Amino acid sequence: MSRPFYHEHPEVLSVETAVLNAAPGRLMLADSPFFPGGGGQLPDKGLIRWGGGEVPVTGFEACDGQTWLLLAEPIEMSGNVVAAVDPGFRQMMRELHTDSHLLNALVYQQFNGALVTGAQLNADGTARLDFDLPDADNDKLRALEGPINDAIRQDLAVGTNYVPFADASSEPGLLRSRSVAPPPTPDGMIRIVEIGSLDRQACGGTHLASTGQSRAVRVLKIENKGRHNRRIRIALVGVAAGT
Ligand SMILES: [Zn+2]
Repeated sequence: MSRPFYHEHPEVLSVETAVLNAAPGRLMLADSPFFPGGGGQLPDKGLIRWGGGEVPVTGFEACDGQTWLLLAEPIEMSGNVVAAVDPGFRQMMRELHTDSHLLNALVYQQFNGALVTGAQLNADGTARLDFDLPDADNDKLRALEGPINDAIRQDLAVGTNYVPFADASSEPGLLRSRSVAPPPTPDGMIRIVEIGSLDRQACGGTHLASTGQSRAVRVLKIENKGRHNRRIRIALVGVAAGT
């Protein structure tokens, strides 16, 4: 089985492709540019253009390793269609996701290898990451805003590669999250996302090509959520309300 189109061609947001399978209000495509959601990243928005016009995609449903695209109307399509991702929404998710890695890397390095216990990117330009951080000083966590924005200004390259899952499990820090580790590919490989020399971790989401493509980030809030859990909320400046 091949790797997802959105991993192989992250910059291609609109593609003409064949309908492989269809029922009223749903279809399966030969090539789907849509990220279907997962690992705390929201599913893409977008639409399908076909002979009869265009219809929004409202969701995704996994089935036997394939993904159904759900449509806003009970149309049954055939032949070729154009699948188009909403570029603004994807860009915002890529920024929040890449910036989450920056935060995650800095926490890991500066707070004794603390791991992520949860992550959620939001449609309002904010994201939250939860860390297993029983003893950290909230002011020190808040002060990570500076180094995050330094890493954005340095325009660090973001790259991907694949390693065998067994190797990934034995490299400390590569599987950074206790809750959102990506599943191995069918051939037993796991996708690694690298940001310059700052960060290297397993991830299946969509990221920027380099950190400089992100808007600046603000640390909004640090919350204690239980004895171990520290929740850090970040926002894209100029996108999230109040920034
Ligand atoms: Zn990621």
